Amino acid sequence: MGSSSTSWVGWSLRCPVVTSRTQGTSWTCPLCGSSGPREREDALPSWIRRYAEKQPGGPYVGTAYGRPYSGRRPPAFRVPVCGLCNRWMGRTFEEPAQSALVPLLKGYPHTLLPDGQRVIARWTAKSALMQALFDLPEDQALLEVCRTFRATGEPLAGCQVFIGRYADSGRLPSTPAPSPAVAKPPTHRQAPSGARLEAITFNPILGHFVAQFFLPLTASRLESTAARLGLVIPIWPLPGRPVTWPPEQSFTVENAFLRDVLKLIP
Ligand SMILES: [Zn+2]
Repeated sequence: MGSSSTSWVGWSLRCPVVTSRTQGTSWTCPLCGSSGPREREDALPSWIRRYAEKQPGGPYVGTAYGRPYSGRRPPAFRVPVCGLCNRWMGRTFEEPAQSALVPLLKGYPHTLLPDGQRVIARWTAKSALMQALFDLPEDQALLEVCRTFRATGEPLAGCQVFIGRYADSGRLPSTPAPSPAVAKPPTHRQAPSGARLEAITFNPILGHFVAQFFLPLTASRLESTAARLGLVIPIWPLPGRPVTWPPEQSFTVENAFLRDVLKLIP
């Protein structure tokens, strides 16, 4: 396989869109379009924050705000949404995922039944959209995705969710040296004017739990390189059978960057 087939997914100039900050218009909820009351939704539920504070283990690590993150608590991504949507996300995605997520955060090997796969995948998809809204509050393609999500209550068609295990909980993953095959992904601040996002991606590390989410927004199909290497297993679309967690291979400090690497299929 040629090295050119593996890349970070970032920005595309193929389908430029114009996003403008309209002066003087009142705020509307990015999910339902209503005008309030305005609340701030944290991409991570409060129970994960409470859980994190009680853990004797190391800090939460990964990437946040476009750079490596290491902290006692997971990073915060607070997005303005209306109170109705905030509560809807809490009861529909955050609370149902708690009992299935905690064994993954703690790293307990187990068999994940379809009900558990479903609540984790749905929570991951919701969190991915909230983090994307934090980064790109005015991206029109993203806003369209968010409204569809609110209307259907389902992860978007075409999205995929994988889960894996991080063996080095609490240790910051190393950043690979730049190379033609694996270059550093551009942040939204580095995006050229008029660019649009090629895909929504969300790859958190929380304790021992690793999720990999991607939703292509352009015509390209994406394939998980980590899945090909046996580092993650698919849970969405639902595989239709129980899955054993963790996968045979675990992410480590050295290879955790692979959760960000996707193969572009034209
Ligand atoms: Zn709303």
